[in-house]
Amino acid sequence: MKAFDSVIDAIGNTPLVRIRKHDDCCPAQLYAKLEFMNPGGSVKDRLAKYLVSRMERDGTLTANSVLVENSSGNTGAALSMVAAVRGLRCVVTIPDKMSREKISRMRAFGTEVVIAPTAVDADDPRSYYSLARQLANEIPNAVYPDQYNNPLNALAHYESTGPEIWEQTGGAIDAFVCGIGTGGTISGVGRYLKERKPGVQVIGVDPIGSVFHDYFHHKQMSKPHVYDVEGIGEDYLVKAVDFSVIDDIVQVNDAASFAAARSLVREEGILCGGSSGSALYAALQVAPRFAGGNVVVLLPDSGNMYLSKFLDDEWMAGRGHEVESRPSLMATREKAGLIA
Ligand code: PMP
Repeated sequence: MKAFDSVIDAIGNTPLVRIRKHDDCCPAQLYAKLEFMNPGGSVKDRLAKYLVSRMERDGTLTANSVLVENSSGNTGAALSMVAAVRGLRCVVTIPDKMSREKISRMRAFGTEVVIAPTAVDADDPRSYYSLARQLANEIPNAVYPDQYNNPLNALAHYESTGPEIWEQTGGAIDAFVCGIGTGGTISGVGRYLKERKPGVQVIGVDPIGSVFHDYFHHKQMSKPHVYDVEGIGEDYLVKAVDFSVIDDIVQVNDAASFAAARSLVREEGILCGGSSGSALYAALQVAPRFAGGNVVVLLPDSGNMYLSKFLDDEWMAGRGHEVESRPSLMATREKAGLIA
């Protein structure tokens, strides 16, 4: 019988799919790593699996533990799924800008979700970071993975996502494009790929309103503001980001992210989330640097989590975004200034 022991063992080994529609005029070949194919619906399943197995091995996590974490919804879902398998209680704090689909998904797994205001500083006691820390102190037997500061976050990707991309491309990879939230994915994959092939360019993607772009390029902290794309960008410098493996950080706004994500859905049939659109848009921008080469773009989560948001025309119009009659990669490229 070819069966996994539990759904946790079904995490990883996600497909790499060629992006086809722009073949005629994009100078590089783009490949998408479909992380929403993980059973919990996102790249974060890898972190939850890795964290829980490491913490069980070293005795930090036991049958009486309560998992407490701050999350934009995907780590929360991944931990919720693993907690369900292990029979553990799970409590997740989440900022209020995140989709109701993400909140419902965690609750479906039995998780207690605490919703925090988005528009407060990270060190404000009402922020989702502060609330998670407070709950972790108050709840008996709480275990707080603290993904923003935990070195295991990047290690999870160094040990799984990076090697998979290397195998799937047969080493024929010139650039890796990836959004930065906690920074775990880009730091772990970036380090792995550079160790195998130092010439691989690692390109981070940061939403306008987040602090990573200006810190990377100018060593300055910009004033953060709220944006609509979920899961990437931060309003403070996160320990899990390893800037030493990042060659460039590209900024993308909400409109470009959503247009690119909608075109991935409509033209490639890839039901991805908004941060996947940010990554694709950034990849189209940097593609001329890798003419004739291969660029891998990581798509972190699924469009299922945004059916009531950027995949809904009424929501788009209500937020002042253009609702294209036919979203297309060609139009996305034109907007990126890539076509004269
Ligand atoms: N996109 C989405 C939708 C996410 O939820 C996350 C995780 N916050 C990311 C991208 C970024 O991944 P990482 O935290 O590994 O940087």
